[in-house]
Amino acid sequence: MPNTNSSNSPNPASYQGVVYNIAIQSPLRRCFDYLPPVKHPTPLTSGVRVLVSFGRRQVIGIVVGRACQSDLPKSKLKAILSVIDAAPLLPKTLMKVLHWAANYYHHPLGDVYSTALPSKLRTVQKPDKRNLGWQLVKQCEACPNDVFGKAHRQRALFDYIRTNGPLTASEMAQSGFNSAALKGLKDKGLVESVELPPTLLQPFSALAASAHELSLNPEQQAAVDLIKASANTYQCFVLDGVTGSGKTEVYMRVMEDQLRAGKQCLVLIPEIGLTPQTIERFRKRFACPTVALHSGLNDSERFSAWQQAKSGAAGIILGTRSAIFTPMLRPGIIILDEEHDSSFKQQEGFRYSARDLSVMRAKEEKISIILGSATPSLESLANCKSNKFQHIALTKRAGEAVPAKLQLVDSSEQSLKHGFTEYTLGAINQQLSSGGQVLVFINRRGFAPIVNCANCGWSAECEACNAQFTVHSKPAGLRCHHCGAAQRIPTCCPHCQSRDLTTAGIGTQQVESFLEQRFASTPVIRIDRDSTRRKNSLDEKLKLIKQGDPCLLIGTQMIAKGHHFPSISLVVILDADSGLFSADFRGLEHMAQTIVQVAGRAGREKRRGEVIVQSRHSSHEALVKLSNEPYHEYADYLLETRNASHMPPYSHLALVRAESTDFSSALKFLTDAATRANQLIQANSLQVQTMGPTPAPMEKRAGRYRLQLLLKTTSRSQLHRLLSQLVPNLELIRLDSKSRWSLDVDPQDLI
Ligand code: ADP
Ligand code: ZN
Ligand code: ZN
Repeated sequence: MPNTNSSNSPNPASYQGVVYNIAIQSPLRRCFDYLPPVKHPTPLTSGVRVLVSFGRRQVIGIVVGRACQSDLPKSKLKAILSVIDAAPLLPKTLMKVLHWAANYYHHPLGDVYSTALPSKLRTVQKPDKRNLGWQLVKQCEACPNDVFGKAHRQRALFDYIRTNGPLTASEMAQSGFNSAALKGLKDKGLVESVELPPTLLQPFSALAASAHELSLNPEQQAAVDLIKASANTYQCFVLDGVTGSGKTEVYMRVMEDQLRAGKQCLVLIPEIGLTPQTIERFRKRFACPTVALHSGLNDSERFSAWQQAKSGAAGIILGTRSAIFTPMLRPGIIILDEEHDSSFKQQEGFRYSARDLSVMRAKEEKISIILGSATPSLESLANCKSNKFQHIALTKRAGEAVPAKLQLVDSSEQSLKHGFTEYTLGAINQQLSSGGQVLVFINRRGFAPIVNCANCGWSAECEACNAQFTVHSKPAGLRCHHCGAAQRIPTCCPHCQSRDLTTAGIGTQQVESFLEQRFASTPVIRIDRDSTRRKNSLDEKLKLIKQGDPCLLIGTQMIAKGHHFPSISLVVILDADSGLFSADFRGLEHMAQTIVQVAGRAGREKRRGEVIVQSRHSSHEALVKLSNEPYHEYADYLLETRNASHMPPYSHLALVRAESTDFSSALKFLTDAATRANQLIQANSLQVQTMGPTPAPMEKRAGRYRLQLLLKTTSRSQLHRLLSQLVPNLELIRLDSKSRWSLDVDPQDLI
């Protein structure tokens, strides 16, 4: 990335001579020019890390380019302090993806690198004596003896390294050389430090053929054959298979093929909670080293897993979103399971989509990628329709399981008992008494989402957010789910002093205590963020359910994904309505995905599953369609509505957000931004619409006002032409310390 100040006519003050462009983590969308290091005779290759002084600090940067001049005069340029790596840290393919991403998301390249690298590689570390060693600088290998003069120890150490290869600190201690000799060699620019463990790790040995217990059904077999046929070339497959159709079995057959060829498999999943069960499945199946990369690792664990992937020692690399940045020695296939899941989009800082980046990565690596889901995103389905991706359908459940029956139950006119209709309670009773397990899904934790005064209508709201306090019963208190603020439950209305306070709506805790009373002899297990804070508590609960005895399971979206509960025969979705009238344009898509995924937990084995969806709007077109038609027909209907309203995937969005403790600062920034955007659109005749600035649907959160400016177009290239001119402009707008702005390309939601 060139220095943003660069222009074609040479500035008389500019420096003529070699400079390196260094990516450094900073909010500025540019790289920085540095002179070559004083003591380093060989040219630096792109991708090596260097230590530089940056402002008052010394930081690690990455060499990303070399130029013959800088716009700055020589007096302003500093030399690189030292070179950290002997060879580029990342493979070329991955570097290309990172540069593409910085361009596409208009995000600082230094920050993109910093997201991609384990923290141990981003920060100046005390040299780790086991990891570091010294090697001869290549051009100095045939060094004339006279440089040493009387420095015999230096010469001896030089010869020792020339004969024995890189020397580690512990070897140096054992061989009797001292650090003064080493320093002498370093000062002469004859040796450089090098990181050793990766070269000690060996690529895993190719897997032997294994016998299979399961024979694939014809649809699975066709899927496997098709995917195998494009091994070693880029192709993006959307594996669109109903829940329980055996997608994982398809992944594993494809992976096996790659592992047998000595190639690595990168598997991305949405949730950290799913790693143990997925790892276990892979380990049972494949006798090859498997590493997991997720947010639960400490820095050393993460670094070690990263090294195993990079060196080729690990055959399977499993991880959440950020694992897409893992380097691999011999990549074979990328698999992204539950590709529709919104957790693949990073929602702060570098707002990348791991799904979109994994497609780019597969293209660069010239390998295939599988996007799997029972409810593919509308983006991926549209890409199948335009033949960018190849659609593969698995329409039947694998093995003996039969699809669940979905029933809409109207809850508008009935008097509900803690959210349940009599009909639903009857169905639960019936399932439990015939030995089944029941899952009640409600995507709201706490006891009730609202507490208000029956006399004057006052309701408890968080002062820092535009949001109601949620009532919690265990432990008792009011809590804001957006900023974490907590308060006591008031005994009377602060407005009119009435003691007639009531709650409205229901949450998991209320459902739990009601069901415990109603079905006293059945164990009730609640799974939400509150009940699983303690380490291992989720695992313990899941184990209990998997034993298969009758029980009532209450859960939020935490249980909607991927889990395999063999004995659940009835799923109740208590409140399907929140998605129907959502402020977010993806509301209907997310609602359907959740319903289908949760419903998919029912009847996974021999028992036929039943699903009850309660709604106050049970005749709403979307719900009726969803209950009568398979997901892909419902998705076609949604695609039509998106097309009619010119929304993604039929248009492209970018959102400029501003946040401030001061409403007017945020508004002023975005008003300026809108003016500049409109000027650029006019000047370049771009077909891009600006909408706003407007307050975000949740206007205030954690004490900060949130406003946004939406950019919308049908031409991606025009959007990027606009952004590449607009963003440098936005960087120039003065912002006070209370405010910040960000850019979100392809926002997941507009909330
Ligand atoms: P998905 O990933 O599509 O939800 P899974 O791969 O987890 O589905 O498969 C669901 C269940 O069906 C698992 O218990 C799996 O072992 C079983 N299964 C998969 N393929 C077959 C098959 N061909 N024959 C019998 N059982 C199968
Ligand atoms: Zn009141
Ligand atoms: Zn709050």
